[in-house]
Amino acid sequence: MKYLLKCCNRIVDVDNKPIWCIKCGEHNIDISEVTDKTLLPCPFCGGEAMEEGLNSVALHWYECEDCGASSGSADSLVEARKKWNGRK
Ligand SMILES: [Zn+2]
Ligand SMILES: [Zn+2]
Repeated sequence: MKYLLKCCNRIVDVDNKPIWCIKCGEHNIDISEVTDKTLLPCPFCGGEAMEEGLNSVALHWYECEDCGASSGSADSLVEARKKWNGRK
């Protein structure tokens, strides 16, 4: 199972839900399970991704609110989200 550690916006792939963050040394951390519906924070600045798109030509992508990083575009939001989440 993959979890998103919100303290430092890291994804960890572990069997059991982590109870603390090794990197930050924080114990009371906010953790969410990463599912197909999860929209990961920006890999560069941790900012929030915004839906962008051109409906007229069925082109969708995600763009970071803070630094403007964007995913590759795709013909559906689902695919665009996969691309966004696949970034390292
Ligand atoms: Zn952390
Ligand atoms: Zn960003």
